[in-house]
Amino acid sequence: MDVKRDYPAVPIFGLPFSKMDMAQTVGYLARRIEERRPTQVVTGNPIMVMAALERPDYYRVLEQAELIVPDGAGIVWASRVAGDPVPERVAGFDLLHELMREGERRCWSVYLLGARQDVVEETARRLGERYPLVRIAGYRNGYFGPEEDEAVVRAVREAAPDLLFVARDALTTQEPWIARYKEALGVPVMMGVGGSFDVIAGRTKRAPASFQRLGLEWLYRLLRQPSRAGRMAALPRFALKVLRAGRNVTERPGGAGENGPER
Ligand code: UDP
Repeated sequence: MDVKRDYPAVPIFGLPFSKMDMAQTVGYLARRIEERRPTQVVTGNPIMVMAALERPDYYRVLEQAELIVPDGAGIVWASRVAGDPVPERVAGFDLLHELMREGERRCWSVYLLGARQDVVEETARRLGERYPLVRIAGYRNGYFGPEEDEAVVRAVREAAPDLLFVARDALTTQEPWIARYKEALGVPVMMGVGGSFDVIAGRTKRAPASFQRLGLEWLYRLLRQPSRAGRMAALPRFALKVLRAGRNVTERPGGAGENGPER
């Protein structure tokens, strides 16, 4: 089923990236919460786009998310190449905090799902301290297999939060997991937040503002965690593909998400 979008977006290889700035994004999600409409938020980056172009099932997951925000600097750049720039980068980590801030005004509740047990516990404690008017409806670690999905989904559903943050693996257990259980979870706003809990709990550091301004957050993460190199090989491939496509970067390459992997 196609998702109806009532906000401006620019497609990058056919995947619709929102053209709302941070404030508009928060306003939009607040409305979705008021209307209790299931909304999967993807904080999209070039690694995810490249994975989607290689795996039709993943393409469909992203395509059917109600909202994809431009999290990666590479996406902001690609939208400029398209001649239809997004107003700003909407980083998942910042959006999480903005939603918590808005949640203070509206007395929302949040469920935290993902990361190691000690990390998610510390995240719950710190978020509770920083945003005391947001109720922590529940939390649990992100290390469980499909056999536990049903119990986890039930626990979230019973906790009935307004927001669900999922900190797992974007390419496997995060976005595809949310997409699969979107209806069953019964939560209005569900968002994949990757390594955000580790940063909130003080286990890892976010890139300094200077790196962020230069669009080099990925470089900072690569330097601190060289094991990310494999995954990051997608970045130069994305850049090349965008340059080759030029203004046609908006177009969905033949086959992506439809008849099989792109060759
Ligand atoms: N994680 C998890 N379950 C898994 C795999 C990963 O809960 O099966 C957690 C991991 O502990 C970390 C987060 O998911 O907190 C992923 O962080 P990473 O920095 O790799 O994600 P990115 O920000 O690059 O998407």
